[in-house]
Amino acid sequence: MRNGKRRIVFKVGTSTLAHHTGRTNIRHMEELVKVLSDIHNSGVQVVLVSSGAIGMGAAKLGLQAKPVDTPSRQAAASVGQCELMFLYDKMFSDYGQIVAQMLITKADLENDTRRSNFTNAFEKLFQYNAIPIINENDSVAIEEIVFGDNDTLSAEVAKCIGADELVILSDIDGLYTKNPKNCDDACLISIVEDIDESIISIAGGTCGNLGTGGMATKVKAAQIAGEAGIDTIVMNSTPITNLYRYMDGENIGTRFKAHSQKKREG
Ligand code: GLU
Repeated sequence: MRNGKRRIVFKVGTSTLAHHTGRTNIRHMEELVKVLSDIHNSGVQVVLVSSGAIGMGAAKLGLQAKPVDTPSRQAAASVGQCELMFLYDKMFSDYGQIVAQMLITKADLENDTRRSNFTNAFEKLFQYNAIPIINENDSVAIEEIVFGDNDTLSAEVAKCIGADELVILSDIDGLYTKNPKNCDDACLISIVEDIDESIISIAGGTCGNLGTGGMATKVKAAQIAGEAGIDTIVMNSTPITNLYRYMDGENIGTRFKAHSQKKREG
């Protein structure tokens, strides 16, 4: 907690924000914005890590699929990031919120000066009561410096700003013992005390990654956050009101417990 305020990083992926066509899923996005605005109004410091730039850009440019080569991905991201932030700004404004775009690369967080610039800007945004919305700076990031996925990015951001929790919204309820799409006896794991080999293998999966909603990168994110003393919760973004249940203290999704209690100045 900072000044009595809980600080939570919420990560949302393209599957929540876009239809299979790549175009924006307006209903999902509006619901997300409404709930996050409400959580923010309740006194929580909200940070949103949002994907969607490449997918939305590709759709807007009329491409049949997400491009695979780097220059095309960068171009699509440049177009899509505008659409993404335009919509966020418009929708959050309806609820009286101020949003701030922050685009970062791995190098920004690995370099002491740049990391400190980033955290200083963050603290100022919190003082101004703004909601930072973060994405990887896809239009300049090249292979060597990319996080590659926003699960990892969200964990690095949570660590950097000393968040209390990391909430990863997914298209699956959490981590299952087996792939729930193939295995009827798959059970949701509600708490992971330690990310050991068995958890990594479930996530990376003998049953395959597909049905587990990209769980391997979520577990990796939970490891990064956990080492910094931050719990990670993976939950379904549908219905988005799951977030209210979570904020009300219900056990929902899978909670990856942090390794140690975080020690921060008050
Ligand atoms: N930064 C990418 C985008 O906005 C998403 C990366 C990811 O999906 O993890 O399209």
